[in-house]
Amino acid sequence: MAPRPLAIRPPERNLTIPLPTPSEKTAIYPQRERGRTVEQTHSRLMQLPLELRQMIYRAVLGDSTMHMILKRNKLGHLRCKAPSALECPLGYNGRTLSRECCWGTVDSANIWSPMSGNVDEPTDGNIIPFLQTCRQIYSESIDFLYSTNCFSFSDLDCLRYFSCTTLPARFALIQTLDIEWCMSWPIYDPIAQALLLSNPALYPPHDEATWEETWRIIADMPNLKFIRASLLYFDGFRDPGCEERMLAPLRKATTPKRFEVHVSWAGDEIEGAPFQLIRPIRHDPDFEDEEW
Ligand SMILES: [Zn+2]
Repeated sequence: MAPRPLAIRPPERNLTIPLPTPSEKTAIYPQRERGRTVEQTHSRLMQLPLELRQMIYRAVLGDSTMHMILKRNKLGHLRCKAPSALECPLGYNGRTLSRECCWGTVDSANIWSPMSGNVDEPTDGNIIPFLQTCRQIYSESIDFLYSTNCFSFSDLDCLRYFSCTTLPARFALIQTLDIEWCMSWPIYDPIAQALLLSNPALYPPHDEATWEETWRIIADMPNLKFIRASLLYFDGFRDPGCEERMLAPLRKATTPKRFEVHVSWAGDEIEGAPFQLIRPIRHDPDFEDEEW
């Protein structure tokens, strides 16, 4: 189901300007006449100052949450319909994980299926036509897509695939990440894994190697300003040492100014981490004793 990683594109496929000069093009690809750039001086949009055009680009492409989704052999993205990512939680509806307020459900392999049942429902966040309109618009606006949106992932594979199907220079522009991940079985816990009769006990993306690779990718993102990671898990960790090993790869992500890790289980405070670990609010047993 994995999409093919980004190919190294020949220069005549560049979408951004400037293009190779005609003499270069003729020398390299004498047969082809692709990627011609036409002056846009008659366009009313292009007559506006660049600052105003940039405001328009940002309004069209940016400042949203983009839910990245897995499809068969490709990725898609859906613009969040909720006012903010916080108001669009991923939940279990008794059957599967879903974001019913926003975009539908996923199957057991985390492949997205739309609420409408229409498998051809577009998953491009309605931004591709704008970007394809004109090479100059593409060049002037594409950075806003990556730098001003929150990229939301509910699958570790999806994040890994996104990193290898996006131009590295664009991927590096991302500033905001929202990750929700349901752990299916305890990681870094050999005793719990021995209970599973499969070998290896955990398959990707639920294994430790995928977990570490994901955080290696995130730690290398140079412009991150905010990460919110929500880790869901049916139970707590059997011992704090396992939890510490699970959190160790997150400690390498030191770039973001704000880094929140929400976990669904109780436990001890941790120290010296670049993130704020937020645990669920518990009932105070002392207080309950007094009541009794
Ligand atoms: Zn949403």
